[in-house]
Amino acid sequence: MDCIFDKIIAGEIPSKKVYEDNFVFAFYDIHPIAPVHVLIIPKKHIESINDLEEGDVEIVGNMFLAAKKIAFDLGIAEKGYKLLVRTGRDGGQEVPHIHMHLLGGARLREDIGPVK
Ligand code: 5GP
Repeated sequence: MDCIFDKIIAGEIPSKKVYEDNFVFAFYDIHPIAPVHVLIIPKKHIESINDLEEGDVEIVGNMFLAAKKIAFDLGIAEKGYKLLVRTGRDGGQEVPHIHMHLLGGARLREDIGPVK
């Protein structure tokens, strides 16, 4: 098991856990880019959105429900937040285990575009 996020789920690498259920584990990002920056990951090792299968629908649904729950728990639901899932090289994905960034706690910049 070489995946750092699998090791975080297993408790082999420490993390600041925010939420956990049967499908999902969520923890604070080690290098936050917003006042609230949580990573929501599936417990099943799925590398990226490109690797999702029909049978993963329940997992994906639960990732979104976890995002909603965490946003309310952390008090950012009403003002709003951003969910970001990077995929592959052009998407800027660094860790090959699907993760949803939950970003909030401030008005966030829109800086998506091609690298110059
Ligand atoms: P990506 O660029 O793949 O969308 O995002 C990967 C994220 O994982 C980055 O925001 C990075 O800071 C975070 N990250 C990488 N390694 C660790 C770690 O060991 N612990 C935590 N909490 N976050 C990590």
